[in-house]
Amino acid sequence: MEYSIGVDLGGTDIKAGLVSSVGDISCRVALPTDVDVGGPKVVAARIAETVRQVLVKAETADPHVISKLGKAPQSPLNNAKEANDECRRHDDTHEVWIGLGAPGLIIAETGVVHFSPNFPGWTDIPLVDYVNAELAKLRLLKTTASDHSQTHRGEKYKLVLRGMDNDVNAMTLGELRHGAGVGYKNIAALTLGTGVGGGVVIDGQVYHGSQNTAGELGHTIVEPNGRYCGCGNQGCLEAYAGAKNIVERTQEKIETGRSTILAEAIQNGTPLTPRQIAEAAHAGDEIAMEIFAETGRYIGIALTSIAHILNPQIAIIGGGIAEAGEKLLFEPIRAELSKRAMDIPARMKIMKAHLGNDAGIVGAAMLALESEKPAV
Ligand SMILES: [Zn+2]
Repeated sequence: MEYSIGVDLGGTDIKAGLVSSVGDISCRVALPTDVDVGGPKVVAARIAETVRQVLVKAETADPHVISKLGKAPQSPLNNAKEANDECRRHDDTHEVWIGLGAPGLIIAETGVVHFSPNFPGWTDIPLVDYVNAELAKLRLLKTTASDHSQTHRGEKYKLVLRGMDNDVNAMTLGELRHGAGVGYKNIAALTLGTGVGGGVVIDGQVYHGSQNTAGELGHTIVEPNGRYCGCGNQGCLEAYAGAKNIVERTQEKIETGRSTILAEAIQNGTPLTPRQIAEAAHAGDEIAMEIFAETGRYIGIALTSIAHILNPQIAIIGGGIAEAGEKLLFEPIRAELSKRAMDIPARMKIMKAHLGNDAGIVGAAMLALESEKPAV
């Protein structure tokens, strides 16, 4: 069993954990991102701090765990014969592998965040360089074990960022390897959160396109003259199925004066949440039921285009909005797809994501384990 550390950089939190090659997470850590406090280099330092805290937790739980993280480097002293020599291996500098999922348009080859909508001012930020600089400061991390294991005394750890990708691509990889995508080679993934993220798997690999921007399924047009989207276009799926837009659409319906159990919630001055709307729909509230039926319909329209373009075996739908469930959301999605798509692409299965909020950490860790070289 091998382990790596997966880090999921989000707009609110930086989440990290120790992940095994079969996708189990332990030693979880979450720190606030505080993107407005200190800029990208400070965020990079917080990312390194999450890694440090995961390592401390891991060592406390199992002083031998470091020897399972990533791989001992190949060197004349560490050839195939000696790789089996645990004592020799523990005397070497050991590489601890880390993978990072980050929001926005990521240029993986150079480790640069080109643009990230929820991170103001982040334009062409060399995030991998910044994180590596911070990880280098932790290079001589000492074991916290007091120390029961003689073999670990004096060991040096080299913390190596092995891969960075867009956060939704990382989630897609997590679902592909250890979630709803296991056993499938061609997948479309949608994450319904504040925005609508997307990822595409073709022939068992996350597809990045010619300049790393593939998979923006949330910006599939579902209504040519429709609502404005954060990307500047009109009628994108995100403008209907993103959490903020679901709330806005609900408020617009309430403002027409129709009776709804949600009116009371608005009068109290608290902003509506998609969860409240889903609960109202489950309770039979007409406006709330309409909102989810329409949301499902728009997702079905987007998936019809995606099915025709890519012919995936499955569409995996995750994120907080997907918690609305089968009846409210998945049934109208399937109905729309079967109404609109040609018969063979319409065979695409529509499934709920399995890993929930863990998909990003698991996928980032898999980036580290599957990468053939350091991130930059
Ligand atoms: Zn858009």
